[in-house]
Amino acid sequence: MWLLLQCPWHQCFIFSLFQYLAQILNVDHNIQEFLDWHQRRLFGGPGSWLPKVFLKNLAELGLPVNLRNLESSCFAAKARVAYKLPAKYTDDLSPLGTSIIGYKMNHSPDHEHYQWHCNALLVNVMRAKRDTIRLGGPPDNPDENELVKLQKKIYNLVEATNKPSRSAISNKTRQRVERWELGLPIGYVSRRIDMRIQHLKGRATPKVIIAYIKLLLNAWNTGRRFRHMAGRGHVRRCLFCGVGPDAIEHFYKCTIVKDLFRSYNCSCTTLLQFFALDQASFPSHFLVKVNLIACLYTVHNSINSTCTPLHVKQLIRAATSMALQPPR
Ligand SMILES: [Zn+2]
Repeated sequence: MWLLLQCPWHQCFIFSLFQYLAQILNVDHNIQEFLDWHQRRLFGGPGSWLPKVFLKNLAELGLPVNLRNLESSCFAAKARVAYKLPAKYTDDLSPLGTSIIGYKMNHSPDHEHYQWHCNALLVNVMRAKRDTIRLGGPPDNPDENELVKLQKKIYNLVEATNKPSRSAISNKTRQRVERWELGLPIGYVSRRIDMRIQHLKGRATPKVIIAYIKLLLNAWNTGRRFRHMAGRGHVRRCLFCGVGPDAIEHFYKCTIVKDLFRSYNCSCTTLLQFFALDQASFPSHFLVKVNLIACLYTVHNSINSTCTPLHVKQLIRAATSMALQPPR
């Protein structure tokens, strides 16, 4: 949930500042690098579990928020300024253009005033407007209706044009799930994950979706994942049963997890079944399984974050009673 709370904070207090400045200035790589760094710190979570392509396409994963794209926002801000400029400023730009060309012919990019002279406000904003028209945006002289929510319309237009294909997201998923030995060709696994994540949109809460995606990406705070912190590669005992290792690869064998799945008539004898990626789990048992996974995730985090011994079965019962109908 922390991820979802950070998004509005980032959009309101950090991003809007850059967007305001970008109405007149070009965004250079330093600003983009800073924002990328900031996003990694803010949203990466323990072990930087969230791939960049996911972070920039949260809505594609069924989450109710999306991080705005700085480049598209700055472009839209400039184009809006150009559309709203009075004609007297834009009627004859040729003297300005001629001066810039003349300056460029006589000075190299490392000249101390190069950026200043070559990024004139009028040139930047008019270039953005020209490119917007090329993309199919409002014409040169738009009517009143076309000017309503103009910046948002231009932003959406640019984003739709630059949108990474589903395959970019699938490729990243494929790289991250290759580590599991699921007994299926990776292409099948990747397609099934795509289908299941699409299925969750509107059917599961963001908390459940995140728990499921984190499971597939090996992003739970398990002892195996953070074994380097325990020293000499030591992996602590499973937080549920206390017998096996605290690792996702163990959970489908864990007596506590198996009992829980069995009580809801869900199969869990292989990792593929635990991930609900087997054919029998979809679509009939899928939502139940994903909710059970989210409950286990909550319980795992609760035990992980306290030093006090907790009663695992009671915790699981409490978590499932809030998320699911009682088992028959
Ligand atoms: Zn266990």
